Amino acid sequence: MGMLQHGQVVAAFGRHFDVETAEGIVSCVTRGKKGGIACGDRLQIEMTGTSQGVIKSIDPRSSLLFRSDEFKEKTIAANVTQIIVVVAAEPAFYEDLVSRCLIAAEAASLKIVIVLNKCDLEQATQAALKKLKLYCDLGYPLVTLSARQDISPLRPYLQGETSVLVGQSGMGKSSIINALLPAAQAHTREISQALNSGKHTTTHARLYHLDDDSHIIDSPGLQEFGLSHVNEMDIAHAFVEFRPYLGHCRFSNCRHLVEPGCAVLEATMAGEIDRRRLGTFHKLVR
Ligand code: GDP
Ligand code: ZN
Repeated sequence: MGMLQHGQVVAAFGRHFDVETAEGIVSCVTRGKKGGIACGDRLQIEMTGTSQGVIKSIDPRSSLLFRSDEFKEKTIAANVTQIIVVVAAEPAFYEDLVSRCLIAAEAASLKIVIVLNKCDLEQATQAALKKLKLYCDLGYPLVTLSARQDISPLRPYLQGETSVLVGQSGMGKSSIINALLPAAQAHTREISQALNSGKHTTTHARLYHLDDDSHIIDSPGLQEFGLSHVNEMDIAHAFVEFRPYLGHCRFSNCRHLVEPGCAVLEATMAGEIDRRRLGTFHKLVR
């Protein structure tokens, strides 16, 4: 048997994984059916060469996120502590997408930060802030910045966290990542992506170290998370403003759709819950 090592997945390409160990990066494969390994996973590997190994076992995870449900290779990131939802002043963003990201984060008990990018576009920024007021009122932190000008307003939120950035394309996710990662790292990133494009089909995700305890997982093209593994009750709980009303409906198995005596519907009628959020909930559970 080869030497055993402990490490963390810093890049995932299909069934190939770059695992960072105390000795350096080890290129690993899985043998047999050990599916669902994701970027950020900590694991035990067996060395099969100087920089090659086989994955033996996966450590218990603090969290696991899934790519949108239509994808076959579903896991996207493990041991994440925070989701950063990136929207922009321009072009207009889909609120449903933002809502679904918040639900995925709440369902996984992760911290959330909303970033409004392109704040150099002043008029559009004012309009976007109006749209985002709902989420601020719910208590989600909002950071406004311009990735073109200055990324520093976001930095304090990244401290001590393993964050994953998610956002509709065109919102400036790659601009933010590029601004956050030091030039040297961005360079390595280009090289390794170029090298990998020949060997592997798609890079699903990569983990970068901002400092010893702050990390960023970048998954190019990640627009939203899958929710098919979350049950209806957990979805209702993921709407933070529903929580005080859950358990107060007339029927204990209330689905908060049309039931008489539904505390969630009554709260919406009374203006305590925003109709847009109830609408999003209904779209998700129907
Ligand atoms: P992604 O698809 O989310 O990765 O978005 P990109 O980072 O590729 O950015 C999309 C477009 O928005 C590009 O043309 C960027 O130059 C532009 N962009 C990104 N950040 C800013 C910003 O802060 N201000 C302005 N005005 N444009 C930006
Ligand atoms: Zn109800």
